[in-house]
Amino acid sequence: MSAEQELEAFRQQTRDWLAENCPEGARGPGQIAWGSSKVELEPDVRLWLERMAERGWTVPTWPREYGGAELDRDHYTVLIDELKRIAARTPLTGRGVNYIGPTILELGSDDQKARWLPGIARGEGGWAMGYSEPGAGSDLAGLTTRATLKGDHYVLNGRKTWTSDAMDCDYIFVLVRTDPDKPKHEGISLVLIDMDQPGVQVRPIALLSGASPFNETLFEDAVARADDVIGGVNNGWTVGKRLLQFERSTHAGINISGSQGGRSADAHMPEKIRRYVQSHGARMSDPILRERLVRFEQNAHAQRLTQSRAIEELQARAPGFTSSAVKLTGALNAQEADELLLAAMGTRGLAWEGDDAKEIEATRTWLRQKSLTIAGGTKEVQLNIIAKRVLGLPD
Ligand SMILES: Cc1cc2nc3c(=O)[nH]c(=O)nc-3n(C[C@H](O)[C@H](O)[C@H](O)COP(=O)(O)OP(=O)(O)OC[C@H]3O[C@@H](n4cnc5c(N)ncnc54)[C@H](O)[C@@H]3O)c2cc1C
Repeated sequence: MSAEQELEAFRQQTRDWLAENCPEGARGPGQIAWGSSKVELEPDVRLWLERMAERGWTVPTWPREYGGAELDRDHYTVLIDELKRIAARTPLTGRGVNYIGPTILELGSDDQKARWLPGIARGEGGWAMGYSEPGAGSDLAGLTTRATLKGDHYVLNGRKTWTSDAMDCDYIFVLVRTDPDKPKHEGISLVLIDMDQPGVQVRPIALLSGASPFNETLFEDAVARADDVIGGVNNGWTVGKRLLQFERSTHAGINISGSQGGRSADAHMPEKIRRYVQSHGARMSDPILRERLVRFEQNAHAQRLTQSRAIEELQARAPGFTSSAVKLTGALNAQEADELLLAAMGTRGLAWEGDDAKEIEATRTWLRQKSLTIAGGTKEVQLNIIAKRVLGLPD
């Protein structure tokens, strides 16, 4: 059988298996599992997670011994195409399969891989990210959370901020200072922490919009196993930056660690705008809006092609500095899509309360997605990386 025939046979088998095994309740928009033991899953979503994990398809490219299916890029792409064809939801997402999992796979020890990866692949535990501190955001290397070695464990003290979803997380990966006497980039380590212990406190941060998934996470003599430092003690700057590339690649849709790569969040936006305009009135006759919509469609198409090309050229589960460029353009496109929808909606695009759920959703999404050019490194930080690392411009 030629490679092409083999791929076609895989496509057919995948299609048949998905038709039989993807429950109706796991298709179309809705709940997606992300591993948290504190969030109850709808029965179909749980079943979908279990079936896909059993087949190694929550982390299709990972080695079998760690819960994956060892798919290469071509087979991975076929799987994603077939999932999209039936509007199947990704069975498992989150910082486990997308950020810390591939980081451990790339930079962890064999013991760390064996202890952590199979559970991550099965969605056992939700993960938070402990990078930012009140005085260390873009200047991340200025972090001061301290980890002191005491026998076979580290004792952590310090304060992390903007820890998304921490209130529902079971574990957190944290950048800590393990050697305060070294230059600031050289005394940092990345360590894994069980959040269910007295030394870890999570405090919600209320935003103007009310409910928020943001928290402060405080460590007061919290304990971590010494052998849960990933990629070597005082090597956390390198390890932490690689994890950030996995994060940015996830935002950009070009991380193929989980089963989410290659999906483009804004793919349906032009259609959504057109439908809204058709059902509500005449603003499509506005030539400026029409021109913006055409430009947006061109950019969205270019983004999808770039996404596919980035995946085709991958040497690992996510690219390096390319992730900054694709994340940034993806975020700018998504924000422009929100702006366009609101412009098309006119004064209805300012709804905050009332009966029309779609209008309120549009306003809130527009505001919420302003964060896309802050989270995972700000727009300016991405531009600095692109200037230095992609274009090779001087510092
Ligand atoms: C939705 C969301 C989710 C998040 N989730 C998490 C999480 O789970 N865990 C976590 O650790 N963090 C999280 N963050 C924090 C995020 O990583 C930081 O907000 C981000 O890195 C910026 O840091 P800062 O907020 O301290 O801003 P600052 O670093 O203080 O930046 C303020 C402004 O100065 C600009 N600036 C700073 N330095 C430079 C420079 N060298 N050149 C040009 N401009 C510069 C920035 O671009 C920005 O406009 C989240 C943020 C958001 C918005």
